[in-house]
Amino acid sequence: MVVVVVVASLALFALLAFGPFSIFYSNPLVTCRQAEQVPQLHFLASRRHRFPATKKGEESCLGDRPLEKDSNAITRGGNYFQSMSMASSSFSGSGNALMWFRKGLRIHDNPALECASRGVTGGGFLYPVFVIDPHYMEPDPRASSPGSSRAGLNRIRFLLESLKDLDLSLRKLGSRLLVMKGEPGEVLINCLKQKWVATFEKPKGDPSAFLRPATTTLSPYLKFGCVSSRYFYQCIQDVYTRNKKHTSPPVSLLGQLLWRDFFYTVAFGTPNFDQMRGNKICKQIPWNDNDELLTAWREAKTGYPWIDAIMTQWGWMHHLARHCVACFLTRGDLFVHWEKGRDVFERLLIDSDWAINSGNWMWLSCSSFFYQYNRIYSPISFGKKYDPNGNYIRHFLPILKDMPKEYIYEPWTAPLSVQTKAKCIIGKDYPKPMVSHDSASKDCKQKLAAAYELNKKLNGVVSEEDLKVLQRKLDATCDSVLNPVHSHSSSGAKRQRRS
Ligand SMILES: Cc1cc2nc3c(=O)[nH]c(=O)nc-3n(C[C@H](O)[C@H](O)[C@H](O)COP(=O)(O)OP(=O)(O)OC[C@H]3O[C@@H](n4cnc5c(N)ncnc54)[C@H](O)[C@@H]3O)c2cc1C
Repeated sequence: MVVVVVVASLALFALLAFGPFSIFYSNPLVTCRQAEQVPQLHFLASRRHRFPATKKGEESCLGDRPLEKDSNAITRGGNYFQSMSMASSSFSGSGNALMWFRKGLRIHDNPALECASRGVTGGGFLYPVFVIDPHYMEPDPRASSPGSSRAGLNRIRFLLESLKDLDLSLRKLGSRLLVMKGEPGEVLINCLKQKWVATFEKPKGDPSAFLRPATTTLSPYLKFGCVSSRYFYQCIQDVYTRNKKHTSPPVSLLGQLLWRDFFYTVAFGTPNFDQMRGNKICKQIPWNDNDELLTAWREAKTGYPWIDAIMTQWGWMHHLARHCVACFLTRGDLFVHWEKGRDVFERLLIDSDWAINSGNWMWLSCSSFFYQYNRIYSPISFGKKYDPNGNYIRHFLPILKDMPKEYIYEPWTAPLSVQTKAKCIIGKDYPKPMVSHDSASKDCKQKLAAAYELNKKLNGVVSEEDLKVLQRKLDATCDSVLNPVHSHSSSGAKRQRRS
C-alpha cells in the first residue's frame, strides 16, 4: 500500500517538475495558411477560472505524442472526432468541479455538465475546459489538403467555431471556456495537480484518507534524499509562478518545507535537542515510565479503535494521525514520556528523521513550541469527524469490520448482542479501553498545569529531585491512568450499563 502511495507521489512530483501546461491562445494553423478562414481563439482564464494563466505566446511542451501510442483510455481511438464522441467527463472534489468538454459542445441538454454542476458545493467553482490535442490540430505539410494529418481545415474550422460559440454561451452564464493544448489526459491531470499544490492547506486534509492521502507522502523521499528539498522547493515555486493565487506559509506546501528546515535549524543549535534533560527549550515534566502503557500503545492495543488503527498503519502516517497518537501517549491520556514515543516512531516510520521527529514529539507533548495543553485530541470524536462510518478502522483493524457504525469508535458501548453479531467481543477479541479518556485527560491537564507552574517558579532549572517530588504529589491525586474505563462514569460506560 505504502509503496503504491509513494510511487503515486513520485508521479505527481515528476508531473510537477516536467509537465507545465499552457493556455492555448491561438490556432497554430493561422501561421500556416488561410489564416483569415480560421477563427481566432483568445480564451483566457477569466475571473471565474482559477487555473494558472501563462505568458502570452508561451507554447505547451506537451502533446507531441501520437494518439495511437497513448494508452490513455479517454483519448484512445483512431479518429479524433470519434474519440470525442465519448461522454464528457467531469471531475469534482473540494467543492470544485471540472467539466471536460469533448464532444458535447453545448450547454443545453448536457448531462455531464449537469452532473459537474451538482459537484460544485460551498462556494466552489465549475471549470469548463476543452483540450486541443496538437496531434489532430497541427498543420501537416505532407497532407493532401490543408489541415492536420487527421483533419481537413474545414472540419477544424467548424470545431473552432463551435468552441467559440460554447464560450459565448458560457460567458452569458458568467463563466468562460478554458482552452488548453496538449495530450488531453496529461494536460488535465497536470492542471489538477498544479491546482492541488497551489491550494494545499494544512492542517486541512483527511487523516483517514489512506487510499488517497491528503498530503504529498514525500517525507520518506526527503528523509533519504531521493528527492532534494531544494529541487522540491523550486518545483513548488514554479507552480506558484503559474498560479498567482496560492496558499502561504505556514499552511501552504512551501510552509511544510519551511517547518522541516525550522526543526533542522533549531535542532542544530540546541544541545540535547533529542531529550528532556539538559535541553533548555524543553519543559521539565514528570512523565511516567510505565512500560505496560507504552507497549499497549505501540502494539495497537489501547482499546480505542481510532488510536489502534493509526498504530497499525506503520510506515507512513498522515500528520494529524501522528498528532492523535502522540497526544494520546503523552499529555492526552497515558502521560508516558515523549522520548519513548519518539523512539517507537524512529524505529517504525519509513520517514523517521532525527530533528523532525524529536521536534514534533516535543510539540505534541506540549514540552516545547506549543503550550496549549488544554487542547486535547479526543480518541473518539476526532476521527469520527472525518470518517463517520469508520472505514479507516475497518481496514486497519479487520476484527472490527462488522461493528455497526454507531459503535465503531466506542465498541465497548455496544450491547453484547451487537458484539456477538459483529463477531467481536470486547475484552476478548478486541481490548477494553485501557483508560477512560474523560478522566485521564483531566488528570493529564492537571499534571501539565502543575509542571508548568514548577518550571515557571524555578525559571526552567528543574532538578530531577524537584520532578520526583512533584510526581509523588501528583500520583497521590491523579490515578486515572491505572483505572480502566469501566470503573469510571464516562458516557461510554454509562451507555454500556444501560444496554
Ligand atoms: C509526532 C510526530 C512525529 C513526526 N515525525 C516525523 C519524522 O520522523 N519525519 C518526517 O519527515 N516528518 C515527521 N513528522 C512531520 C509530518 O507529520 C510528516 O512530515 C508528514 O506527515 C509527512 O507526510 P507528507 O510528506 O505527505 O507531508 P506534506 O504535508 O506533503 O509535507 C511535505 C514535506 O514537508 C515536511 N513537513 C511536513 N510537515 C512537517 C512538520 N510538521 N515538521 C517538519 N517537516 C514537515 C516533510 O518533509 C514533508 O515530507 C512528524 C509529526 C508528528 C506529529
